[in-house]
Amino acid sequence: MFIAVYKDKCTGCGSCVSTCQNQVLVIEDGSCRAVRTKNCRYCMDCVASCDLGAIKVFV
Ligand code: SF4
Ligand code: SF4
Repeated sequence: MFIAVYKDKCTGCGSCVSTCQNQVLVIEDGSCRAVRTKNCRYCMDCVASCDLGAIKVFV
């Protein structure tokens, strides 16, 4: 699996970070980054939480 964050779109708002129940995501240097990908349960809540389409999860 792969979590893609499109830095040109991400504003670092933190919506996806707080939505993820599994602490996969963090804000770092002004944008989101996936740091604990092994915790991901592929729920896609982070994708749904981002109005900008800046994060995608590929399974
Ligand atoms: S919700 Fe979208 S814009 Fe906000 S930090 Fe996450 S990926 Fe970036
Ligand atoms: S798909 Fe679900 S578990 Fe995986 S990073 Fe997104 S919100 Fe977290």
